[in-house]
Amino acid sequence: MVAAPFNSSVQRLLVGMVGVGNMGAAMATRLLGAGYRLIVCDRNEEAVNRLQAAGAKAAATPAALASTPGLSAIISMLPSSEHVRQAYLGLEGILSVEPQELHPHLLVDCSTIDPITSREVAAAAAAAQLHPNAAEAHDGQRTPLMIDAPVSGGVPGAQAGNLTFMCGGPPAAVDAARPLLEAMGKRIIYCGDNGTGQTAKLCNNLVLGVSMAAVSEGLALGKQLGLDPRLLSEIFNTSSARCWSSEIYNPVPGVVEGVPSSRGYRGGFSSQLMVKDLSLILKAAEHCGAPVPLTAEARKLYEQVDPALDFSAIYKQLYKG
Ligand code: NAD
Repeated sequence: MVAAPFNSSVQRLLVGMVGVGNMGAAMATRLLGAGYRLIVCDRNEEAVNRLQAAGAKAAATPAALASTPGLSAIISMLPSSEHVRQAYLGLEGILSVEPQELHPHLLVDCSTIDPITSREVAAAAAAAQLHPNAAEAHDGQRTPLMIDAPVSGGVPGAQAGNLTFMCGGPPAAVDAARPLLEAMGKRIIYCGDNGTGQTAKLCNNLVLGVSMAAVSEGLALGKQLGLDPRLLSEIFNTSSARCWSSEIYNPVPGVVEGVPSSRGYRGGFSSQLMVKDLSLILKAAEHCGAPVPLTAEARKLYEQVDPALDFSAIYKQLYKG
């Protein structure tokens, strides 16, 4: 039988979150809004302070978080494979706690990382021992369950609670995580074993990276030829060029309110993270011999954008829109 760690009657459950940057902070805020009690952990003090002001508590390290009595689950939202390795397997990582001192029976990594690291961390979790008082994970199992659940929807989707989660891992773990994920998103898609959520996310970001570059190229060309990018965006959005990059996350300042392009390309999904994802895609494609010429070209383009700015800054910086 699968224990039901989360349901509407237990929304005061204690949950931990490692990484409360652009995405993690918005997701954490949704959890607080849904009634979960939250402990956050981030290397960036300011990011922690913001969440504390919103009602969360703080843990100094992922290990301190993981050994908190009563903690049901940990969600991580970290930049890259290396950060995930460190937060789970490092000296002060979640899985570094003494045997049987681990409390959360569910570990949910929402970061976008490579599927191999994802599987390695899940295997390490499966070898860990839960504290004797920790709630049962699944069918009397005394080890934590782990899933990869990378997201799509960006910061606006995280703020609105309508992210898509692409989940890989044991079906029982995805079921256990469902109420938690439903507090932050609208679609929870089961992809298969550990790592398959990451594969789905990388394929999604291949299309995203290329489509943002294509929309930016088209809008900048139109502008050079004398068309107002606002008008051209309206045409795209009611024609066959319509896509998320043009409709929801348009790269032209002022076309869509509240997105990074309308606030100096601050916040959002950094170009640095897009380059990271395109590099992961190239590596995965090399591994299986799949041709990905557009990915290779897109990476070269995003490498020319300020790494700290949102990836839609490609419109301004590369295409001079
Ligand atoms: P971010 O850089 O804004 O936030 C990451 C946070 O993790 C930072 O606050 C950093 O201090 C913290 N951190 C790093 N290592 C840590 C550690 N060992 N312990 C504790 N905290 C640590 O990144 P983001 O934009 O929130 O993206 C996070 C992940 O989500 C990435 O994998 C990204 O690819 C993915 N993602 C981002 C978006 C987006 O629009 N930003 C959309 C979908 C997916």
